[in-house]
Amino acid sequence: MYANIIVDISHESVDRIFQYRIPQRLEEKIHVGVQVRIPFGVGNRIRKGYVVELSEETSLAQEQIKEIQEIEEGAVTVESQLIGLARWMKEYYGSTMNQALKTVLPVRQKVRQRQMRWLVCPLAPKELDAAIEEAARKKYRARERLLRAFCQSPRIPWAIAEGQLNLSAAAVRAMEEKGIVRLETRQIVRGMDSLREQAVSHSGPVLNGEQQAIVRDFTERYDRGERGTSLIYGITGSGKTEVYMEIIAHVLQACRQVIVLVPEIALTYQTVLRFYRRFGDRVSVINSRLSAGERYDQLERARTGEAGVMIGPRSAVFTPFPRLGLIIMDEEHEGAYKSELSPRYHAREVAAERARLSGASLILGSATPSLESYSRALSGDYHLYRLRNRAKPGSSVARVTVADLREELKAGNRSVFSRPLREAMEEQLGLGHQIMLFLNRRGYSGFVSCRSCGKAVKCPHCDVALTLHRGERLVCHYCGYRAPAPVRCPSCGSPYIAGFGTGTQKIEELAAKAFPQARVLRMDLDTTSKKGGHQEILSAFARGEADILVGTQMIVKGHDFPNVTLVGILAADMSLNSSDFRCAERTFQLLTQAAGRAGRDGAKGEVIIQTYNPDHYSIVCAARQDYEAFYEQETAFRSLMRYPPASRLLSVMVSGADEKVLAQAMTDICRWAEEDSSATGVETIGPADAQIYKVNDIYRKILYMKQENYDILIKIRNRIEMRGGQARWSGRVMMQFDLA
Ligand code: ADP
Ligand code: ZN
Ligand code: ZN
Repeated sequence: MYANIIVDISHESVDRIFQYRIPQRLEEKIHVGVQVRIPFGVGNRIRKGYVVELSEETSLAQEQIKEIQEIEEGAVTVESQLIGLARWMKEYYGSTMNQALKTVLPVRQKVRQRQMRWLVCPLAPKELDAAIEEAARKKYRARERLLRAFCQSPRIPWAIAEGQLNLSAAAVRAMEEKGIVRLETRQIVRGMDSLREQAVSHSGPVLNGEQQAIVRDFTERYDRGERGTSLIYGITGSGKTEVYMEIIAHVLQACRQVIVLVPEIALTYQTVLRFYRRFGDRVSVINSRLSAGERYDQLERARTGEAGVMIGPRSAVFTPFPRLGLIIMDEEHEGAYKSELSPRYHAREVAAERARLSGASLILGSATPSLESYSRALSGDYHLYRLRNRAKPGSSVARVTVADLREELKAGNRSVFSRPLREAMEEQLGLGHQIMLFLNRRGYSGFVSCRSCGKAVKCPHCDVALTLHRGERLVCHYCGYRAPAPVRCPSCGSPYIAGFGTGTQKIEELAAKAFPQARVLRMDLDTTSKKGGHQEILSAFARGEADILVGTQMIVKGHDFPNVTLVGILAADMSLNSSDFRCAERTFQLLTQAAGRAGRDGAKGEVIIQTYNPDHYSIVCAARQDYEAFYEQETAFRSLMRYPPASRLLSVMVSGADEKVLAQAMTDICRWAEEDSSATGVETIGPADAQIYKVNDIYRKILYMKQENYDILIKIRNRIEMRGGQARWSGRVMMQFDLA
């Protein structure tokens, strides 16, 4: 037996793997993740390394291969756990061990600890005035500038003094000798300084009965040593975050650490500040805006135990906490938890495995749980907790109205604002309240729908909307069905049939025109691309600098706007007709979350959903805010169509520059997939061209396979991968697997 070993554990060293022989006496004890001692390099100095893979064979000559000396005894390190997790990901998602390790291990960035220097004013106000006067008289310009700055703030970061005030080190030293300024130095951990300045000690509200019951039950189970997954299903604003914080406090007290996963767009300053107020310096944060150095610092704080709570997006699930006790995954239904890079992992599944490996618990939280999670909660795999009421006294659930856009068209109104929405907007603007206009663009692709009956043109075989290509041809991305774009609605014969799509920019213009007295702000990818842009727009709106905020799904997350009394959802159908089996679920989630933004604080909230499909169950249920009813209908649909979670779905995407070779590869793959489909009960759909068929002159095709039994799909995946590696086209066609 042989073991592949990395000596220097980090993301970068994954490319340098060394093979060693496992002596017979150690064979039983060595497995992936174990730390071992090995002779290394020319001098055979003994070093420590980690086993990342085992193999029966070696390509090295016997005399070249060294032997593992000993197993490093002692506690299982967090590195061992992470390597174990990588191994699980490799198998579960079908990536290489290298890719998995690179995903799991931190990027090492050796950086000098930066020191933060401050200039502090030691003078009393009267002395300061006198000193300014003296400096002015003697024409000590630099000194005068600094002293005047001290009037605004008695502590000034050195960097600002140097930059903005144009002071030299010599000038500062001279002033220090005179006793006009004092220098203060302290170590800082990058990324946290701005937060530290704002942190105010704050204990949260007293939990209400519902909240307390969850905390009590969870902590009792936790203390008994029960682990596993819990789902907190609580309506928007029901106080889930307060529950998390109470539970976190309990887990920290047991000397264990906590990872809090939050979708990136909800990772706002406001959210982080809430945790920081409660847990102070024990909180660490990572997000995609951090530099590699800042990120590394935060992970080091976690590894050394200096931090006890890590807040971050999906990759934070790999935080190297040595004593992980709990993972919390807020908004667990969010699509952002799925990685699009290999290994294409879902953070929910990885979190469950990580928790299992570490002896930790997992808490999922959502106002609109994913079908996967809710079905597991109902079946008893997960522990289900519920929060049925809004937490803040006096705040109530918003009233929701559906505006039928077909009726609007009949009445001759072709504007983007239905009559009910326009009236409500006028009323709320008159009262000085704020409005959010929400354009649901997720999953948006050029589909065709009828403006008279509201139906989108669908694939006859797949029950998903057909996608419009170059304005002339309709294509099904699931089965490859094609049809010319119709000139009349196939359902009702109306000629009012057209591609659907209006941008946020357009809405902003139209809103400004329709309500000239209102100040309109827009938030979408274009306006938030610069660093901090996201935060800036939300803060400006929260400060009341605009009356109307127009935005994409970004605006529904992570910010409380007490003055927002009206939420208008302009085109609920947009996400309904995307060619994705999850589109009804996404629509329901987005509508419910958006509705949750209205009337958070005392004032009555109102939500108007504009749609061409007022009878579609995702819209009807969202308007009634009835998750259970939605869940039932959607589950029935998924069972009927054998979509997840009723079944598992494996997709193979092949890509290559040569269309003919690609077609051949797909033919082969279909054959391998169906080889014993009678025995395994696998249903294949397709092959079809991928949603975007050609990217950078690379063509892409996709094949789907459905099967209840995940293990069978894994076997098929491995078979296709192995045969693909030996095929004539190997090397010219790339295969990518995805499991849902
Ligand atoms: P969720 O995470 O479920 O959306 P939050 O925890 O953000 O809910 O709570 C929504 C609002 O209600 C917040 O402003 C929070 O401070 C407040 N809140 C939560 N619990 C209570 C409580 N027990 N009493 C008063 N206010 C509360
Ligand atoms: Zn029609
Ligand atoms: Zn189809």
